[in-house]
Amino acid sequence: MKTFFADGKGKGHFENLPEPALKENEILVKICYCGVCGTDQDLFSGSCSFAENGQVTYPVRLGHEWSGIVEKVGSSVTKFKLGDRIVGDNAVACGECEDCTNGDFDKCPNTRYVGTIDPVYDGAFSEYFVIPEHHVYKIPDGISLKEAALCEPFSVAYGATKRMNINSESTVAVIGTGCIGMAAAVLSICAGAGKTVVIGRNPEKLKAAKALGAEIINIRNQDRFEEIDRMTGGKGADFVIECSGAQGTFTDSINLARGGGIIGLIGFYEKSETDVNVDTIVSKSLNIFGVMGEYGNMSGVLKILEQKKPNMLPIITDELNFEDCMKGFVRSNYPNSIKTMIKICEE
Ligand SMILES: [Zn+2]
Ligand SMILES: [Zn+2]
Repeated sequence: MKTFFADGKGKGHFENLPEPALKENEILVKICYCGVCGTDQDLFSGSCSFAENGQVTYPVRLGHEWSGIVEKVGSSVTKFKLGDRIVGDNAVACGECEDCTNGDFDKCPNTRYVGTIDPVYDGAFSEYFVIPEHHVYKIPDGISLKEAALCEPFSVAYGATKRMNINSESTVAVIGTGCIGMAAAVLSICAGAGKTVVIGRNPEKLKAAKALGAEIINIRNQDRFEEIDRMTGGKGADFVIECSGAQGTFTDSINLARGGGIIGLIGFYEKSETDVNVDTIVSKSLNIFGVMGEYGNMSGVLKILEQKKPNMLPIITDELNFEDCMKGFVRSNYPNSIKTMIKICEE
């Protein structure tokens, strides 16, 4: 099976590996699509804090945003059969410790991270991929394998929207036009938000946000505070989802939120935000939380996709064949890309 390895420093290579052996609780997946994440690009370049702090062991098998088809199942697998269309979690628990035995997979002390940092679990930029049954989910009918490869970033965004009581009266402001921002906007729309507003600066990406059904604010030529005030009758956003990690956007979030508003932080910041006005947080009684992936988010996302069948395709701005995937790992090749999808096998 053809498998891609990142070697760091902007280099990578393919290897032809033998078909892996299966443990009884594991599934062999024929990978159809795997999305390129910003983390993949960082790890490929090697110039990121993870690599610099020695949290990555090269060569590394990247790929944690995959969709595929069940090719073979281990002897104890009961929930999946040959030909099922599936996606999976971005972290893999050992399945053997006390927590795993109790079904508390997110407490497993032996968790490995799919295709990223140590302790690493071999990623999915490969023709075949092995994963335990308890991390696998069926793709609902009507969702294509290509769209389904967006489920992992959607599961990250869902960590914010599931903590927000979004309804038809709500205004949700999403800062950032990357894949997570788009996913947050789609989930907000699916939750029935009265207004979902994506705030960014790249006109191409904002166009995609509009195609998804969001309203947009381009900070290059619009004042985000005036616009949100106008849209909400001066009240401010009920919910703010910060997905950009850009300097100043934490302060923006505080200022965009209404009194009693809720702010979910998904973006990672390169530097500490030093200029935060804590008094604004206190006087507006804001509720602020951070989002990291959790076990269970994937099934939550799949349920929403099954019920609402949102149009996700505008998020996939670029597509490459597997042999050309290295092009997709170089960020500067695709300055307007929201999600570059690698097609690994025919469906
Ligand atoms: Zn990712
Ligand atoms: Zn465990």
